[in-house]
Amino acid sequence: MTSSASAQAGATVLVFLDPAFRDGRIADASKPQLMATDEGATRGDGVFESLLAVGGRPRKLQAHLNRLAGSARALELDIPAEDAWRRAIETAIREFRGQQAAPADGPDTGADSDADEVVVKLLVTRGVEGGAPPTCWVQASPPPAAGRRQRETGIDVVLLDRGYDSEVGERAPWLLLGAKTLSYAVNMAALRHARHQGADDVIFTSADGRVLEGPTSTVLLAHLGTTDDGEGGVRTVRRLITPQLDSGILPGTSQGALFTAAKAAGWELGYGPLVPADLYDADAVWLISSIRLLAPVNHIDGKNIGTPELRRELTAELNELFATIE
Ligand code: PLP
Repeated sequence: MTSSASAQAGATVLVFLDPAFRDGRIADASKPQLMATDEGATRGDGVFESLLAVGGRPRKLQAHLNRLAGSARALELDIPAEDAWRRAIETAIREFRGQQAAPADGPDTGADSDADEVVVKLLVTRGVEGGAPPTCWVQASPPPAAGRRQRETGIDVVLLDRGYDSEVGERAPWLLLGAKTLSYAVNMAALRHARHQGADDVIFTSADGRVLEGPTSTVLLAHLGTTDDGEGGVRTVRRLITPQLDSGILPGTSQGALFTAAKAAGWELGYGPLVPADLYDADAVWLISSIRLLAPVNHIDGKNIGTPELRRELTAELNELFATIE
């Protein structure tokens, strides 16, 4: 292991769901813990969730547990009950924060402990070849510095064709497009492709020209306008829009929670279909996800999106709304 890899492993906490350990079994992240014949490793066969804990509290936990259960159902994986996950998550966060509170004893991870953010992953693999039960564990680790930076500086994005049409999710459910599976090699390849072009991230489009999602995020855009108020005046309309969920995309827990908070704050909500022209016409575009949160998009394929002032103002407003989400 390189020294940065061992520092990272030192900061990472693993808690396996194990019927013999009520609150989960803590395992050493610097030692091998999986069988090489686990089908998660040999086939990428499994599901996962990534969520953020702030101040020791996992955010949107029920939504993540619901999506994990939905992904597991889609793959016919029989996973432990919710309370076992909740207990293991609590153990992982407590252990992780305990380590951070005593940095003199541990390696310097470079994590920003001021924000007290912990990335919590829930992982399920099909298990060891030959019919073993699924392998399930929780991983707690520091948030990546790049994500925090991109929340503030914004990102440049390229549009990439995913190659499927927007109806394939319904026609071919075995593609598992609405499940959060461990098979993210394609998503990671798309991100590398974007970086080779000097961009930070990707918005996938469908073969029939619809806007879909990012490789690890949901697309969100804002349109501001005015409309007749019915009394001879005009009314300002502020609309948040996201691609429709039945277009073969993962339903985002962040987008879902933000929509609920935004509606209560007076925003109108809309669901696609969206085409790239809608992104270029938007007053602001974001990629939103549980760990990086709202990343404002500065350029798409080199074209400016909105204005920097409006982008900053709307991002600050939505960040405030997002901070109210439990
Ligand atoms: N879409 C994809 C493909 C993702 O991988 C993710 C998160 O990793 C999201 C959307 C955003 O989901 P959430 O807001 O629940 O993190």
